[in-house]
Amino acid sequence: MTSNELLERQKATPARRPRPEHFDVLIVGAGISGIGGAYHLQQQCPDQSYVILETQENFGGTWLTHKYPGIRSDSDLHTFGYRFKPWVGKPIATAEEILRYVGEVIAENDIAPHIRYRHKIMTADWSSADNLWTIVAERLDTGEQAHFTTNFLWMCQGYYRHSEGYTPDWPDMDKFNGRIVHPQTWPADLDLKDKNVLVIGSGATAATLVPNIADDCAHVTMLQRSPTYFIPGRNAIDIAETLRQLQVDETWVHEIVRRKMLYDQAAFTQRCVDEPEKVKEELLGAVRAYLGPDYDIATHFTPRYRPWQQRIAFIPDGDMFKGIASGKASVVTDEIERFTDGGILLKSGNELSADVIVTATGFNLSVLGDIDFTIDGKPLDFAKTITYRGLMFTGVPNMAWVFGYFRASWTLRADMVGDFVCALLKHMKTKGAHKVTVALRPEDEGMPELPWLDDENFNPGYMKRSMHLLPRRLDKPEWQHTQDYWTEKDQIPFTDFNDPAFRYA
Ligand SMILES: Cc1cc2nc3c(=O)[nH]c(=O)nc-3n(C[C@H](O)[C@H](O)[C@H](O)COP(=O)(O)OP(=O)(O)OC[C@H]3O[C@@H](n4cnc5c(N)ncnc54)[C@H](O)[C@@H]3O)c2cc1C
Repeated sequence: MTSNELLERQKATPARRPRPEHFDVLIVGAGISGIGGAYHLQQQCPDQSYVILETQENFGGTWLTHKYPGIRSDSDLHTFGYRFKPWVGKPIATAEEILRYVGEVIAENDIAPHIRYRHKIMTADWSSADNLWTIVAERLDTGEQAHFTTNFLWMCQGYYRHSEGYTPDWPDMDKFNGRIVHPQTWPADLDLKDKNVLVIGSGATAATLVPNIADDCAHVTMLQRSPTYFIPGRNAIDIAETLRQLQVDETWVHEIVRRKMLYDQAAFTQRCVDEPEKVKEELLGAVRAYLGPDYDIATHFTPRYRPWQQRIAFIPDGDMFKGIASGKASVVTDEIERFTDGGILLKSGNELSADVIVTATGFNLSVLGDIDFTIDGKPLDFAKTITYRGLMFTGVPNMAWVFGYFRASWTLRADMVGDFVCALLKHMKTKGAHKVTVALRPEDEGMPELPWLDDENFNPGYMKRSMHLLPRRLDKPEWQHTQDYWTEKDQIPFTDFNDPAFRYA
């Protein structure tokens, strides 16, 4: 639809119906991905008008939502930072530092006027007659509805529900006399001083929380059903320190350190495939170095899966292991039988007493921002679509999706998707196309449809729980999200938009 046609349509809109605002591109979410998307759009497609709609009252997404003690990245910020803005701090960063960095991107590029906060998108309907998405958002400040139309939807909504974390339903939880909290909704008034705290879970969140509350509380116990791999190490990168000593420009430091980190990560990932037992021994050896030869590493830190089948959390300066070695923190590997009034009864028959229980048990996956999507009025079920490289979906027009990497920094992919969307928009403009959809080519028809992720390749609980909600994949690189940055970096930037998988109208 041309701007003039749209103007005519808006004029014809009955007075009582709110008149939609129109933007060429509508970005969902003002987290790392949405702000990065805005940057790329401004740089590469300055002629496209755009708006960012964001539920929360500020930018940052994950880094705004999570407020538990010690909240920090577990990737280095040279690769988790945008490729276009140097990261000048320590590699593992706090939420506050990440928010400051994203805030600078917004200020330096005048992105703020494009963001509408407290706009929670409820519905998105594609009209084939108009080649437009109509978006209805609830304004959380006024309770009113805000209406928008857009040619192109750029989904930067992250992968989990921000309003609440995932807590399993254990027997007798209501009998527990103390407080149960989830790290995602950490209460501002929670005082842990001299309390016995029990943290359930042993992922990156638990590993961050435990050392950061250990000094404050009487004792903190990390209760895990099964162990996790960790990489303890110095929160510094040698080559970055050397380059800075040599007073090399920060733009160069960023680029060189990024390349070095990506090179090292690729080598490590390959070793996890080629020699998993050797990698496993090295990881366990690093833990043993902190905890000593008498600690029961076999029970508490030896996972049942191969290294890299789940994300491996980096433990800066080994802080969690120092907490355990000092006796302020401990680890129990067992299963929960039920809650009691004073703590948790374990399947082994042992009981753990607690004043506060923290359920670091993960996320509720939210495939596309909990938005009700319709296409020409018919409900859209994403689980019935097939993904094009984890970027687009069969049968869903004018939409791109940002879903980052599990094993490499999320932002590597957010930047890559930024280039992809801008190239696609430019291609459509050149072609005079108003609509693009991906569709299977004759050679793809009849291929078996597979779940979004290969269980053997990567299998964290929150993905397994939600696989039935996610799009399907085929056994070809273009019809799956490979989770492999090192392959995708040589494929996605060279996408042939004239390939028959892209259908234009
Ligand atoms: C505690 C924690 C630590 C992490 N650490 C790392 C790390 O070190 N490295 C790494 O690579 N990854 C990490 N991740 C994954 C992390 O979520 C991503 O790396 C990244 O921050 C995601 O950015 P995003 O903008 O895509 O999504 P989010 O940060 O989830 O932001 C999405 C935004 O979209 C908004 N939104 C969603 N639905 C709607 C809607 N319907 N209407 C309007 N707005 C909507 C949300 O309010 C939110 O602000 C971590 C995740 C968590 C939870």
